[in-house]
Order: sequence, then structure tokens, then C-alpha cells
Amino acid sequence: MIKIEDLHKSFGKNEVLKGISTQIKDGEVVAIIGPSGSGKSTLLRCMNLLEEPTSGHIWIKDQDVTSKKTNINKVRQNLGMVFQHFHLFPHKTVLENLTYAPVSVKGVPRKEAEENAHELLAKVGLAEKAKEYPNRLSGGQKQRVAIARALAMDPEVMLFDEPTSALDPEMVKEVLEVMKALAQTGMTMAIVTHEMGFAREVADRVLFLDNGMLVEDAAPVEFFTAPKTERAKVFLEKML
Ligand code: ADP
Ligand code: MG
Repeated sequence: MIKIEDLHKSFGKNEVLKGISTQIKDGEVVAIIGPSGSGKSTLLRCMNLLEEPTSGHIWIKDQDVTSKKTNINKVRQNLGMVFQHFHLFPHKTVLENLTYAPVSVKGVPRKEAEENAHELLAKVGLAEKAKEYPNRLSGGQKQRVAIARALAMDPEVMLFDEPTSALDPEMVKEVLEVMKALAQTGMTMAIVTHEMGFAREVADRVLFLDNGMLVEDAAPVEFFTAPKTERAKVFLEKML
């Protein structure tokens, strides 16, 4: 589904990604973990060209998104993105948040978009919040709306950047539950997270980044019980 080859990204003289290569298969759930500043967000943002790679290639379903010929808006429609800070449209209702892009970008008929939105809201446990405005929701509810909104575009891949890091502890679980259910539907997911228990339970693979390099790429049991590198050991000791 996604293939990354020798990806480099610099901001000025600061080389943030130093040659990342990996693949994510159809239906695979990959947790991206590592210390703050190691390049996790930049890696995710390069995948949908929110950041332009300095060099290297990223293919999404055989399309090289780094090629000038690729229609990046089409590629982006296929990649749902969920951020730490929700980014909901504050002046739209929950329902309108979900229907806006399908109607205006994809040309889905409004009635169909609304039916789909109601279904998605039911899936994330927010059926009764369709007419509510975002500022009337809790953080956990906002993030579940953000996930439903990304799903409303019917993407084949979902990218999550620390989706629970801004939440009060009691709300983390409800968001992780929604993500876990989504993983079980066979969605391809790349998730930057500090939730080690979740990564261990839900991910098929763990990518450990440190200082812009992919230091470990392993199954969760391997990574969490027998990390190969000193850097991963040190990181895990701090996290667990
Ligand atoms: P992580 O998500 O692992 O915490 P980031 O990918 O956000 O790490 O950042 C990695 C490095 O890149 C940091 O040193 C950060 O300061 C730098 N960086 C990220 N985005 C930008 C940007 N837009 N401009 C300049 N430097 C940036
Ligand atoms: Mg980050």
C-alpha cells in the first residue's frame, strides 16, 4: 500500500529524516514510536506531502507521490489524517464537519453524504451528536468526530499523529477503542503514538525512529520484549 525508499527531509541545515526505507502492506497497522523530535510527525507528513521530501520516494499504491506528475489532491483523498489537535471546523456542526469534504471535494450527493455521516457517527459512538457544535464536545468526542470525518472520505489508509496526546487520561481509552475497532476492519493504518500498550496490542509492526533514522522495524512482541538496539532499550525503559 505504501512504500518509502531512502526518504530524506531537511529543514534548512537540520536533516530531520536521514534515509528512511520501509513498506506498509494493505491492511497492516504500523505503530511509529520514538523520542520527541526524532522525526515521527515529519515522516507521516511526508506521506501525504504536507511536507515535501528533500529526496527519496514514496509510493502510495504504485503512485510515486514525490513525482511532479502525480495529482497530489487525488492521493490525499485516499489518505485520512488525524492530528493531535482535532482541527475540526468550529462553525460547522458535527454532521457538517463530516459531509463538507465528501460533498465539496468529491461531489457526493448531500443526502448520500449525510447518510454515510450518520453511519460513521454511530460507529464512533456519537450518533446523538450530529447537530452539536465541536466546542460543546469533550476532547475524546472531538477526536472521535475527527476520525469519523477522515473516514467520511472513504480513504484506503489512515494516518494518525499522536491522536490521544492532547486528551485527558479518562478520554484516551474511548479514542483507542475506536482505533482498535477500525484496525479490526482491515484498514491500513500508520499511527504515531506514545501509547505503548496500544501499540503492543493492536499494531502488526513497530517502527522505532531515533534521530531521523529507522532504528528498528519489528513485530511488537519482539520489539517490546527484546529490542535489538541500546537506543530502543533506553527509550522503552523511560516509557514503561
Ligand atoms: P517528532 O514528531 O518525532 O517529535 P518532528 O517530526 O515533529 O518530530 O520533528 C523533527 C525535527 O524537525 C525537530 O527537530 C523539529 O524541530 C524539526 N521540524 C519539524 N517541522 C519543522 C518545520 N516545519 N520547520 C523547521 N523544523 C521543523
Ligand atoms: Mg510529532
